[in-house]
Amino acid sequence: MSMLEVKNLTKVYEMGLIRKRRIVAVNDVSFDVSEGEIVSLVGESGSGKTTTAKMVLRLLPPTAGSVVFQGRDIWREYKTKEDLKEYWKNVHAVFQDPYASYNPFYTVDRILNQALRLLNIDPKSSEGKRLVREALSYVGLVPEDVLGKYPHQLSGGQRQRIMIARCWLLKPKLILADEPVSMIDASMRGAIIKLFMNLRDDYKTSTIFITHDMGLAYYVSDKILVMYKGKVVDQGSPDELIKNPKHEYTKKLLASVPTLYKKWSWE
Ligand code: ADP
Ligand code: MG
Repeated sequence: MSMLEVKNLTKVYEMGLIRKRRIVAVNDVSFDVSEGEIVSLVGESGSGKTTTAKMVLRLLPPTAGSVVFQGRDIWREYKTKEDLKEYWKNVHAVFQDPYASYNPFYTVDRILNQALRLLNIDPKSSEGKRLVREALSYVGLVPEDVLGKYPHQLSGGQRQRIMIARCWLLKPKLILADEPVSMIDASMRGAIIKLFMNLRDDYKTSTIFITHDMGLAYYVSDKILVMYKGKVVDQGSPDELIKNPKHEYTKKLLASVPTLYKKWSWE
């Protein structure tokens, strides 16, 4: 049994009052995520990636289908506040614009201290302070450079690293990363997605990595799902996809990979 099983997931948005318009944002999507696996959802803007993520995060109810996490249907079997708290401890989101996750009036320490409190650790204790420093160094930040600063005083890359440091503290089983590097300088993207690979290798953390960039997906993924107009039109390991793309859209996306792939020479 996989850790996460997404089965026939569908979302239809109904728009307009008089002349109803239906948008099938996600159309019969199924996939599995195993422990320690990085699965990418790749597709152009509007292909249904974020809508899929929101249903998996239990933020948006599906029109049909199910999301089963560790054997439990999250939309039918997780009901109480405690259930949801437990779910969101296990399944954690990292969004595109880390700035949106911060309160501009609070120093960034808050983000990490909040995580400590979820773990019932006092941020003022020596253990709390030690864990924060350890988390920051895990994601390649020097504590002195970031602690005590306000979000606007940090770069987008630093802010996103802090969100990943938060994951290091909470150790979720699954991270949903929706375009986590699309607002970050191209030269920094590889180093940041490498952190998801480190979490996988060190703690068997799984990630659903959402991107419109096939080059990034090819680099980071154990498995790639290609989404097109709400459907999964292709899937497989990066090498399987390269060797045997089924859909025309996948071929188009892959055509850009060889050149992009060369850029990862910083490895
Ligand atoms: P992606 O993340 O791949 O860019 P989305 O999941 O955001 O795609 O959107 C998929 C489709 O659903 C798009 O056509 C989008 O316009 C539509 N959509 C997304 N959110 C809503 C909403 N709240 N109401 C109506 N339509 C929406
Ligand atoms: Mg999106």
